[in-house]
Amino acid sequence: MLKINNLHASVEDKSILKGINLEVKAGEVHAIMGPNGSGKSTLASVIAGKEEYEVTEGNILLDQHDIEDLSAEERAHKGVFLSFQYPVEIPGVSVTNFMKTAINANRKAKGLPDMPANEMLKLIRQKSELLEIDRKFLSRSLNEGFSGGEKKRNEIFQMAMLEPKLAILDETDSGLDIDALRIVANGVNKLKSKDNAVIVITHYQRLLDHIVPDFVHVLYNGKIVKTGPASLAHELEEKGYDWIKEEVNA
Ligand code: ADP
Ligand code: MG
Ligand code: MG
Repeated sequence: MLKINNLHASVEDKSILKGINLEVKAGEVHAIMGPNGSGKSTLASVIAGKEEYEVTEGNILLDQHDIEDLSAEERAHKGVFLSFQYPVEIPGVSVTNFMKTAINANRKAKGLPDMPANEMLKLIRQKSELLEIDRKFLSRSLNEGFSGGEKKRNEIFQMAMLEPKLAILDETDSGLDIDALRIVANGVNKLKSKDNAVIVITHYQRLLDHIVPDFVHVLYNGKIVKTGPASLAHELEEKGYDWIKEEVNA
């Protein structure tokens, strides 16, 4: 589904990604961990097509097609979903209306008509029940006065509604209490299918107790320096990153 070859990327002429290779197949969950400033969010942004990042070498293939020339919006329409670390507030636009607009924009890009209102209502009901989101929340203004947990819950709601092919969750767990963490993990686990894939970027093992990854990658200084099974996350939790830095710098 996703194949990244020798990806180099920079922002404001500063080189950040320095040769990333990563293959994510349908049905898989990959975790990306690593010290602060290693380039994890940059990698997520480059995959999603954010414009401030410049790819200087290598490529990203989605279903065997190079996506270099696609805008972030076009990538979203192809099923790439990136959660936002700091979501924007849109006063006056409810969570529900924002979702309706996003879903219909996706459909329009595929040449489909707007989703019929009753179908949309059913989908909203189904997904909000799945994620234990109450009605009042759905009519609130997007992100306005949302707590950290509510923002994260809203991101997962967006993900569940859009049913992306490739979901990238960037530190969706930071600032979550245990209940919200469980809901986020549930949402991801319920979205998981043989047809889609998830990349979870996280600092902490605790989310990975609930979302068990098929692979754990360590990103350090713009490169994936280690890949292992789910147990690697436990090892990192226990030992930190120093031993990896030593291995790399040896
Ligand atoms: P991580 O998510 O692993 O903590 P980031 O990808 O956020 O790392 O950042 C990697 C490096 O790139 C950091 O040194 C950061 O300051 C820099 N960087 C990321 N985005 C930008 C940007 N938009 N402008 C300038 N520097 C950036
Ligand atoms: Mg960071
Ligand atoms: Mg980050």
